[in-house]
Amino acid sequence: YKSIAVLTSGGDAPGMNPAIRGVVRTALHHGIKVYGVQRGYSGLINGDIHVLSSKGVSNIVQKGGTFLKSARCSEFHQATIRANAASQLRKLGIEALIVIGGDGSLTGAHLFEEETGLPVIGIPGTIDNDIFGTDDTIGFDTAVNTALNAIDKIRDTADSHERYFLVEVMGRSSGFLAVHVGIAAGAEMIAVPEFAVDVEAISLQLATSKRKGLGSSGIIVVAEGNAPGLTNRIAEQMAHHGHTPYVSILGHIQRGGHPSGHDRVLASCLGAKAVEYLLAGYSDMMVGVNQGQVVDVPLDNLTRYRKGLDPELLKIALQLHK
Ligand code: ADP
Repeated sequence: YKSIAVLTSGGDAPGMNPAIRGVVRTALHHGIKVYGVQRGYSGLINGDIHVLSSKGVSNIVQKGGTFLKSARCSEFHQATIRANAASQLRKLGIEALIVIGGDGSLTGAHLFEEETGLPVIGIPGTIDNDIFGTDDTIGFDTAVNTALNAIDKIRDTADSHERYFLVEVMGRSSGFLAVHVGIAAGAEMIAVPEFAVDVEAISLQLATSKRKGLGSSGIIVVAEGNAPGLTNRIAEQMAHHGHTPYVSILGHIQRGGHPSGHDRVLASCLGAKAVEYLLAGYSDMMVGVNQGQVVDVPLDNLTRYRKGLDPELLKIALQLHK
């Protein structure tokens, strides 16, 4: 390859910047010219594509978000638009594309490569850790720690006011973030979409704990991907059983902030490996992590399988509460 491009798409995640840097510096090391595409697939369609230099990715390793900007782009669902996007790359002599993004972005990348024949490598970048074939995703570790910082503070108020807090965390349709945050925060309960949530049972159990003098404050972590309105339903049911919980939705603070050391190393390695796999002739694959090793995952698998939540992890989480 003489020329490749990189873009970030979908929800931003802390660590996307060091991933771009990893791609750019590795490509330049191998004598390959690198272009940055602005605003994900929108920039691909509009031809918003510019050469990146080594200096251009200086001083970004520690910054959250993505300096290439990210976007959601509904037009990219159309095959004719994807064909047009490929011609934008070919016009500039760009021979391959590296996509950093979540499940949706990597699904789009798979279709793009299949239809246009332009080699594509994906890098998993999402705080949700919901991508099939990889144990970890760029941004997950940072998001867990951001949520923990918030919950540790919330616990002070929960404790002082002897109240429960229902804390809603991100994760889209997956409970990964909620389970990790729940374990690390010492949550009394965790509600995730992968397992049925019995609102009445939760409320009864908390009422019993209170009666037994086991405490009347605590944290219940609720994944945003549960059935709509679940958090409020739990709150209402708890109110019937003598608790008046507060509800706190952590929201977008979980997506921002400086990437953790872990995410910076992960992003740098995956960025570098994406280029190396490309040079080794791979395409239509994602660089993932399996038992601490970087592995190749066919992008096609992402569209066919869903990453499951380890039931053992949830069991442990639920055994650890009082
Ligand atoms: P994420 O990549 O974080 O999962 P989205 O699911 O919103 O975020 O996807 C980001 C973008 O990827 C979409 O706006 C769209 O441009 C593209 N995309 C997502 N799903 C598809 C699909 N099935 N086909 C083509 N493009 C897609």
